[in-house]
Amino acid sequence: MEKETKYCHNCSTEIDKRAVICPSCGVQQVGVTLSSKNEGLAAVLSFFITGAGQIYNGRIGKGILFFIAMVISWFLCSIVIGVPMLIIIWICGIFDAYNEAKKINAQLI
Ligand SMILES: [Zn+2]
Repeated sequence: MEKETKYCHNCSTEIDKRAVICPSCGVQQVGVTLSSKNEGLAAVLSFFITGAGQIYNGRIGKGILFFIAMVISWFLCSIVIGVPMLIIIWICGIFDAYNEAKKINAQLI
């Protein structure tokens, strides 16, 4: 089986095609992704449904956890503490989905 390689965009060393960081110069590789995730879409999905962005990213367990946390917060809204919790989880969910999509994209290069 032939080993698939690419060239580092920084130092032009021949490296493994799946490499995210060049072992020679330590620079992160950028390039065209095969099945990239749209970080904007991931964030928008989480904006409307907490956890949906994570599920879109393929992090189903995480998405479900975010959703459950959101539901618990909804119940806790009857006692004041639920309100800031709800906002925190909601915002965390959006940012997490966005960052996760970016991370997935970086790994796919
Ligand atoms: Zn390099």
